[in-house]
Amino acid sequence: MRHLYLHVPFCQRRCSYCDFSIAVRMRIPAREYVDAVLAELELVVESSPGWVNPGAMPRGSSEDGLDTLYLGGGTPSLLPPDALATLLTSLLDAFRATSSRDAVEVTLEANPEDVTPEHAAAWRRAGVNRVSLGAQSFDDGVLQWMHRSHDATRISDAVRDLRAAGFDNISLDLIFALPMELERDWARDLDLACSLHPAHLSLYGLTVEERTPLARWISRGATSAPDDERYAEEYLLAHSRLAACGYHFYEVSNAARNGHRSRHNSAYWSGHAYLGLGPAAHSFDGRARRWNLTGWESYRRAVAAGQPTVEAEEVLTDEQRELERLYLALRTDRGLPLDALCRPLPPTAALWVEQGWAEVRDQRLVCRPEGWLRLDALVRDLTGTPGAV
Ligand code: SF4
Repeated sequence: MRHLYLHVPFCQRRCSYCDFSIAVRMRIPAREYVDAVLAELELVVESSPGWVNPGAMPRGSSEDGLDTLYLGGGTPSLLPPDALATLLTSLLDAFRATSSRDAVEVTLEANPEDVTPEHAAAWRRAGVNRVSLGAQSFDDGVLQWMHRSHDATRISDAVRDLRAAGFDNISLDLIFALPMELERDWARDLDLACSLHPAHLSLYGLTVEERTPLARWISRGATSAPDDERYAEEYLLAHSRLAACGYHFYEVSNAARNGHRSRHNSAYWSGHAYLGLGPAAHSFDGRARRWNLTGWESYRRAVAAGQPTVEAEEVLTDEQRELERLYLALRTDRGLPLDALCRPLPPTAALWVEQGWAEVRDQRLVCRPEGWLRLDALVRDLTGTPGAV
C-alpha cells in the first residue's frame, strides 16, 4: 500500500448540498479521533496483513514506501494543529516514510475559514505539503446559499497565508451548474480563481443528493434543479478559460499547472491499491474493496472494543474490474490503450472520434471535453453494457 487516505468526519455545520458522512460538532474530539485512527491501523495490521504491512516497507525507499497521504472529510482543517502533528508523525513513522518528508505528498483538505498564519505554519511543520481549499465560489450570496462558513475575501486571505507559510501546492475546489435563479457568474468565478494562481483546480457539478437541504428545497419548489444544458455550457467554458490561464485538464474534473497533478487521486484513477482509515473510509487492494462503518460514534465504539471497523467488503469480479479499468482510463488524459479493447473500435465508438468527442492519440482512445460530458455513454458503447459504472 503506497497510498493512505484518512477520513476526518467533523464539520461545524452541514452545507446545503452535502450528503457526505460527517459528524457535526462544535467541539472536535481530536484526541479521541487520533487515538481511534492509530488503534484502527494496529487492528488492520494484526487482522489483515494482506491489506497493509508497514513493517515490510524499507525505510527510505522511494519505490516501496508510502507515496501519498490524503486527509479528506469532513473538514480535516478543524483538527487542532497539535493533534494533526501527532497523527502525521505516527502515520509517517508507521509507514516508514522517507526521512525527507516532502517525498510523500501529504494533502490536507481545508476550509478557508480555518486557514490562519499560525495554522498554516503549524500544518507545514507537521509535514503537510499540499492544501486543497474548499473555495466553491467567489460570490458571497452563493456561499451563503451553500451554507458555507466563509466569504469570498476569506479565500484570497487563505491562499496568501498558505503561501507565506511555504505552501506552493495549493488546489481550489469550485462547484458549477448552480440553479439559474442564483445568477452565479461562473466566468467571473473562474477568472478570480485563476487570479490567485493555484497549482491545481478541482471542479464539481452540483448534484442533488437525497436527504440534503438542497433536495428539500427542490422538492418544495423553493429552488430549481440543476440543469444538464447549463452543466455542459459551464463545463466547456471552464475548459477554455482554464486552458487560457495555463491549466491542463488531466482528468474529467481536475486541472493542473505543469507538475502539479494530484498524485493521490491519480493513484485512484490508475487502479492502484490504497488503505483508508477513519469512519466511512474505503480501501482497495487491487481485487477487493471494503469500507468502514460510516458513523463516527459506531466507528469509535468498534475501535474501543477492539472490533473490526469494516462494514462490508466486495470482491470485484473479472468483469467488474475490466469495466472499472476502462472507465478510469477514459476519465484521464492518458486515455485507454486500443489494444486493451482486444478488438477494433466498435462502430458506435468510432462515431465518437468522427464527432470530435474523442480522439485516437498514440494508439490510445482519449476523451475530449465534449466526450467527458458523455463518458457513461462512451463506456456503454465500448462495452455494450446497459448501465454506467
Ligand atoms: S464542509 Fe465539506 S464535508 Fe463538511 S458539510 Fe460542507 S461540503 Fe460537506
